[in-house]
Amino acid sequence: MILAIALASPVADHFDYLPGHFDSSTLIPGIRVKVDFAGRKLIGVIVELKASTDIDPQRLKPILAVIDDHPVIPEPLMKLLSRAAHYYHHPLGEVIFTALPTRLRNGQSIDSTDKMLWQATASTPADDLPELKRASAQRACLKQLQQSSRAMDLGELKSHTSHPGTALKNLLEKGLVQQVSQPVLPPGATVTTRSTPPTLNPEQDSAVQSIQAHLGAFVVSLLDGVTGSGKTEVYLALIQSVIDTGQQALVLVPEISLTPQLNHRFCARFGNAVVSLHSGLTDRERQSAWRLAREGIARIVLGTRSAVFIPTLALGLIIVDEEHDPSLKQQEGFRYHARDLAILRGQIEQCPVLLGSATPALETLVHAQSGKYHHLKLTKRAGDARPPQLHLVNICRQELIEGFSGFLLDKMRQHLDQGHQVLLFLNRRGYAPLLLCHSCGATLDCPRCDAHTTYHRAFNELRCHHCGYHTSPPRHCPHCTEGQLRPLGLGTQKIETTLQGYFPDAPLIRIDRDSMSRKHALPEALTAIAQGDYRIIIGTQMLAKGHDFPNITLVGMIDVDQGLFSTDFRAQERLAQQILQVSGRAGRGKIPGEVVIQTHQPEHPLLQSLLTDRYEQISATLLQERQETTWPPFSHLALLRASAHKAGEVQQFLREACHYCHQINLAPLDILGPVAAPLARKAGRYRFQLLLRTSERKQLHLLLKQLLPALRKMKSGRKVRWSMDVDPVDLG
Ligand code: ADP
Ligand code: ZN
Repeated sequence: MILAIALASPVADHFDYLPGHFDSSTLIPGIRVKVDFAGRKLIGVIVELKASTDIDPQRLKPILAVIDDHPVIPEPLMKLLSRAAHYYHHPLGEVIFTALPTRLRNGQSIDSTDKMLWQATASTPADDLPELKRASAQRACLKQLQQSSRAMDLGELKSHTSHPGTALKNLLEKGLVQQVSQPVLPPGATVTTRSTPPTLNPEQDSAVQSIQAHLGAFVVSLLDGVTGSGKTEVYLALIQSVIDTGQQALVLVPEISLTPQLNHRFCARFGNAVVSLHSGLTDRERQSAWRLAREGIARIVLGTRSAVFIPTLALGLIIVDEEHDPSLKQQEGFRYHARDLAILRGQIEQCPVLLGSATPALETLVHAQSGKYHHLKLTKRAGDARPPQLHLVNICRQELIEGFSGFLLDKMRQHLDQGHQVLLFLNRRGYAPLLLCHSCGATLDCPRCDAHTTYHRAFNELRCHHCGYHTSPPRHCPHCTEGQLRPLGLGTQKIETTLQGYFPDAPLIRIDRDSMSRKHALPEALTAIAQGDYRIIIGTQMLAKGHDFPNITLVGMIDVDQGLFSTDFRAQERLAQQILQVSGRAGRGKIPGEVVIQTHQPEHPLLQSLLTDRYEQISATLLQERQETTWPPFSHLALLRASAHKAGEVQQFLREACHYCHQINLAPLDILGPVAAPLARKAGRYRFQLLLRTSERKQLHLLLKQLLPALRKMKSGRKVRWSMDVDPVDLG
């Protein structure tokens, strides 16, 4: 027998070893072992048992140690990981080691985070045992354990006996007590009052019934409902029916929306049946959660994208909330999409998958429309909350105060005077910088492509990312010949000082990754906002969704223009989603909300349609455009990114890759590039990319299957860092 063992190595999917003197019946897939790999001792996971190998048997080494007696990765999860490795063309070992919690990666035993508890084994009352006649401490200890209905830890015994440690040791030797281990629940929200479910409205009710009808089978449904329409209540009702049958539910949410509020709502309904996984957990807590889920003790797992890999005993339902959110896609290392893997997992585990969003991704909508997914709709906001009123403010030629129009400042004053809160939303990340004329709103276009050029401050240069055209920026706008060109985007700190000067009596808070990096900073800030401690909230994507602040009645969006001119074909979809999600924050209570959008492009069709249309119409238009330009979901992409200190080396590598793709000659394949990445130089490294596009997914995978091994062998590839991103969500 030969063991195929996955190691955290990019070189190959697995490596072959011999069982050595270990009992081969205990060596099954999913078990961790220790092996010698080129002189280093590494942790590996058995992925397959093989009868033969291509390697000279003389050269095979025996494994050094066996770590687990049960598979740390149960069979369905192993299936998911190996299919994911296959789909993303990523080495299986790296996929497995991405999925494992750090402590398990390092070889700690699965129960090493358990608490050790004590239990009485003697049934005779402690006072009647002759051997304890002269041992009062032992007698007291045993008495305590006998009176308790559950196992106790040392701390609990300490309050009754002064030195329980010695007493317990002696009791153990006499065979009167035993030790049991118990997995530790990670700290959840401490909830004292349980909430009772509301009576569902007819739309919610039919959504719940539609999915209940498919429990036990693989079906994908889209729950398409505006913010505040009661999607979360639908999740809660379904989870209840799943755990009532003894099964588990897995709920995935984007990083930013796993807020204390949502966690609190789950705990208020289900108590400590909920285990939540988020970036604030310690390594021990993460491992403990893994164990609780695998043993079926955690009935509900609520987590961010990596929770899609948590093992379960009996999975009955998978929910992906805010399924359109880009943070569900891992952007480095093993680049997987948690929504897509959730669907794969549903297929493996034979359970329903529910995708929820107020602004579904176009990829998802296509399947909902074709009937591949069930399309469930919630059309009304729960309660009497009404949709907010939208204002587009043309800021061309306007005197701006650090980016603020008079209109927005007046609105702010008005809402603050009424005692309400104001949210200012900054749309900062992920867009290439761009120069724009402050008089006429014109942007500078590439003479050779149908694209805007982007501004690179480091080189003081305008560049086209499609063809490589570059030029120095003109002094005046070539369109109106008079206006000044200004780079888009404002510093958050500058906005903060401006507003403090303008509204000195309104306490202000900034919520972004920098200001919220401390462990409890975000929950504390959210509580303070909910209590009304702050009147003005400056926020980025972190605040866009999942929060419910009824007293926020005005949302101001200062710099949406960047989203209109990004080189990324998804930019408009993102912007529409973002504006609608942020607008959903305004007027959730009884007071109607207002949204002010400042723009140099008030006539832009997307902004115009936001005034009058619902996402349903907006997305239909966007889908039509995608179809005409054959971008996803009407084509499939893989992005080869490469970087090095010398630009020539990156280009050489990508040219060879490009040449190889041409040689394979799988029609119909578009090879776009190589071009400079939107961020062309980062930390001294030049970044270029090659985009592969096909109309048939199968074709793309056939190509990648040949291309990736070839890239790994290319000499020019040794000098560059490169990665392949299948289904990229961000072309930067
Ligand atoms: P979504 O997840 O779609 O944003 P929520 O589930 O958070 O919506 O619902 C919005 C608000 O309406 C919440 O405060 C929720 O408690 C309330 N709500 C939802 N459904 C009902 C219902 N059927 N009856 C009463 N209140 C409801
Ligand atoms: Zn061009």
